[in-house]
Amino acid sequence: MPVESSLASVERRAAAFAEWVRKLRRGLPVPRLTAVESGRCVDPSTDPLAALAVELDLLAAQITRREAEFERLFDLVHMVDKGVGVDDVLDRIFDWFVDLIPYDRIGCAFVTADGTHLTAHWARSQLGPVQITSGYSQPLAGSSLAAVLARGEPRILNDLEAYLADHPESDSTRRIVREGGRSSFTCPLVVGERPIGVLFFTSREANTYREIHQAIFRQIAAQVSIVIEKSRLYQDIVEHNRRLQEERGRLAEAAIRDPLTGALNRGAIMDRLAAALRDAGHGDTVGIVMADIDRFKSINDQCGHAAGDAALVEFTRRLAAALREGDLIGRYGGEEFLLVLPGIGAEAVRTAAERLRRAVAATPFDLGGEVRTVTASFGVVAVKAEDGPPAELVAAADRALYVAKNSGRDKVVAG
Ligand code: GH3
Ligand code: MG
Ligand code: MG
Repeated sequence: MPVESSLASVERRAAAFAEWVRKLRRGLPVPRLTAVESGRCVDPSTDPLAALAVELDLLAAQITRREAEFERLFDLVHMVDKGVGVDDVLDRIFDWFVDLIPYDRIGCAFVTADGTHLTAHWARSQLGPVQITSGYSQPLAGSSLAAVLARGEPRILNDLEAYLADHPESDSTRRIVREGGRSSFTCPLVVGERPIGVLFFTSREANTYREIHQAIFRQIAAQVSIVIEKSRLYQDIVEHNRRLQEERGRLAEAAIRDPLTGALNRGAIMDRLAAALRDAGHGDTVGIVMADIDRFKSINDQCGHAAGDAALVEFTRRLAAALREGDLIGRYGGEEFLLVLPGIGAEAVRTAAERLRRAVAATPFDLGGEVRTVTASFGVVAVKAEDGPPAELVAAADRALYVAKNSGRDKVVAG
């Protein structure tokens, strides 16, 4: 091969460089320029084109890294736009950021609303069992973390064991070292001017963190902070809503229950009766049972009102236990209970009431010291919606109950 003139060589290399830059600009994959050049054995300290190749390789690496940062950030922002809680965002950061910043553990702590403490919120670790769990709180005043937050600059500690030896009072460092961390990278989360918390990156190796990691975090800090803050607010709202929903459920439940026995109250059991009648299939009947404790007044009189209350609670418990799934029990008033047994006929409702009667009478009630046999009387009917309005159907069961009372009590009478 003829020896290339040095000018021709420079022209050819420059053209190759231009082609390489063009590819890079278009986002096409490019080889390392220094590798392409390596056959030439040129020395960057004496050959300006070789030095340029080194710089261009560094530039390409930086562009690739920035692209990765943008991609991660874009994905994170996208997540938050879809409405995702902060725990999920932090999980994603753990999964996605390892090629930007090295770590074996990430922890996240938030500044408390009054600004006095930093409270651990989340941690994921590939070190030993997590030693700083959610809720771990440290006062900020005078701490090194307060300084990190005030400066707004990530801090590198590349030898945690040495740091702990110098700062034996640092409980959090002790815990991280115990977990297996040997270097840490502490990144303040700041929204606008307001410090909201800290991301702790920890590596199992000493000397993991470099200035480049500080530069990387600086570039993504604002967006990461906003994403974390937004997702945290979202999580708070979701949590708040869940509690509200729960509370509303509890209130709605309380509004239909008798507080003493937990049975449905009169309004609710009447509503359920109306619904059961409405929902009954063609030709199906609904069983209605009126149950009334016998000589209940004497329990109150002889054992006291508290024993009377205990008898009502135990009476309800026994009836509820003897009912089938789908049957309903309500406290109609005083010691009178209305039971709704959907989908059963005259004979079945009588049998069911007989089972209830035995469940009450068979074993004495423990009324808090006093043990006493309690009985009840039952009036039953099996009815359809067209037999009349619910109040009239209940009155029919009540008339049957009256007959049971007048014929000796502890009885089931069908209306
Ligand atoms: P009968 O066999 O005819 O049903 O007689 P009884 O004593 O059970 O019926 P009566 O209607 O004469 O008395 C019912 C009593 O129930 C009167 C009332 O003070 C009492 N009572 C009503 N509600 C409660 C309650 O919540 N707790 C207690 N301890 N007593 C109640
Ligand atoms: Mg009674
Ligand atoms: Mg009564």
